[in-house]
Amino acid sequence: MHSLTKTALSFNGIGRRCVALNRFSETRIICRGLTCTAEHGEHENELYDVIISGGGMVGTAMACSLGLDPNLEGKKILLLEAGNKKVMDKVPDAYSTRVSSISPGSATLLSGVGAWDHIMNMRCKPYQKMQVWDACSDALITFDKENLQDEMAYIVENNIIVAALTKQLENLSDQVRVQYKSKVVKYTWPKSHQVADTIPWVQVTLANGQTLQTKLLIGADGPNSMVRKEAGIPTVKWNYDQSAVVAVLHLSEPTENNVAWQRFLPTGPIAMLPLSDTESSLVWSTSHRHAEELLQLDEESFVDSINTAFWSNENHSELVETAGSLFRTALSVLMPSAGSARQLPPSVAGIGPKSRVMFPLGMGHASEYIRHRVALIGDAAHRVHPLAGQGANLGFGDVACLTQLLSQAAFNGKDLGAMQHLLEYETERQRHNLPMMAAIDLMKRLYSTNAAPMVVLRTFGLQATNALPAMKAQIMAFASK
Ligand SMILES: Cc1cc2nc3c(=O)[nH]c(=O)nc-3n(C[C@H](O)[C@H](O)[C@H](O)COP(=O)(O)OP(=O)(O)OC[C@H]3O[C@@H](n4cnc5c(N)ncnc54)[C@H](O)[C@@H]3O)c2cc1C
Repeated sequence: MHSLTKTALSFNGIGRRCVALNRFSETRIICRGLTCTAEHGEHENELYDVIISGGGMVGTAMACSLGLDPNLEGKKILLLEAGNKKVMDKVPDAYSTRVSSISPGSATLLSGVGAWDHIMNMRCKPYQKMQVWDACSDALITFDKENLQDEMAYIVENNIIVAALTKQLENLSDQVRVQYKSKVVKYTWPKSHQVADTIPWVQVTLANGQTLQTKLLIGADGPNSMVRKEAGIPTVKWNYDQSAVVAVLHLSEPTENNVAWQRFLPTGPIAMLPLSDTESSLVWSTSHRHAEELLQLDEESFVDSINTAFWSNENHSELVETAGSLFRTALSVLMPSAGSARQLPPSVAGIGPKSRVMFPLGMGHASEYIRHRVALIGDAAHRVHPLAGQGANLGFGDVACLTQLLSQAAFNGKDLGAMQHLLEYETERQRHNLPMMAAIDLMKRLYSTNAAPMVVLRTFGLQATNALPAMKAQIMAFASK
């Protein structure tokens, strides 16, 4: 229930229906049973300090983060989500197909907003090592815990992340109002030079006709962001020639399962991410046609295809193997202790029920993350190929950065929608996100070919990087943020 002021709560009838006033501008909240909905017309043109549009992983984290910030206490914050409230009273036995590799930096953010404990209590699998290797050569790179202080990262189901954040938002109901099943259909922007009779705030219109106003609109509405489109923010984007097939995998035998595996096939990367001793999550990026074929296969053939994709050496060539082995020998002379031994991934025996789904992949980047009274976060600002498992992590980084700058602005008594601190947000995040996005796109292109010169080049590059612990540590530090 939204910040109901106990003294203002008056019961009507036999206690199943109540009418309350809250500090969100004396709005009348009608409560039936345990659900609260704002009756149409009740919030007409109500003014908020911040409205977050989109309650996915990133938007919900933003709502928690702002709600917890002491400098933003007393600010009116609203989260609007088109879908239903995602609660999880009991963790389902079956794993979900949608998972994310959560970096230590993101885990810190989720911990700071109080959601990490809920995640740990629900379900989450840390891993200590990652092996990435090329299907066209013997080249491989490993990142392991010896290079790091803590866990390398955590595999968490997306619905568990959202449920944990939602649980936390319930504890913050005095600070943040949340409206589910509230799709925004229109944004009306303020004129930059205020004209008489125009509203100085962003106006938000919902599908039910309700209109709201906000001093700052945060667009967290995903890769097809309506906030971004309606604000006219130019976006660089393209579709990849690939779709990702995701599934829950049953391993043929229990293992410690603390390694994330990724092999670059000429058709795209295939990754197996640990979920438990006996189960892993598959993310197989491949051509659209192949992805469709994989979805049609019977379970046994699908499992065979996965094992072949991880184990087969059919893409090796003699020329590349000779060049790679000479280079490896030269490296071992120069750096005798460098490099790491190849490990074999576990074999797959089956898949979870109804667990095969595919998603078309693309890349997108908003050339501006902000406008007057508007900021974009998460996939609304940037969408990346899943090969580096970074999409949500970049979004959580946006949340941490924007919270810090808004907190500072509030502390200094500034208008939250003013350009000055929004510009700082844009600069800081683009400085981090752009190199990451460029590296991910380069990897995708570099590994999308089996042309011998390119394979030799990337084999040398991967082997050299694998032999340089300092460089590996830097890569890991960048990806851990
Ligand atoms: C196969 C695959 C694997 C991935 N693996 C990883 C990984 O390992 N690690 C990682 O960090 N990332 C990973 N990602 C990326 C990650 O899933 C995304 O970056 C992340 O989900 C983006 O979250 P978001 O909240 O920004 O957007 P979304 O999840 O798209 O959420 C947007 C929300 O906005 C709501 N919304 C939209 N329009 C409106 C509207 N008009 N009004 C109100 N609400 C609206 C939607 O209902 C939705 O809830 C992967 C992606 C894919 C496809």
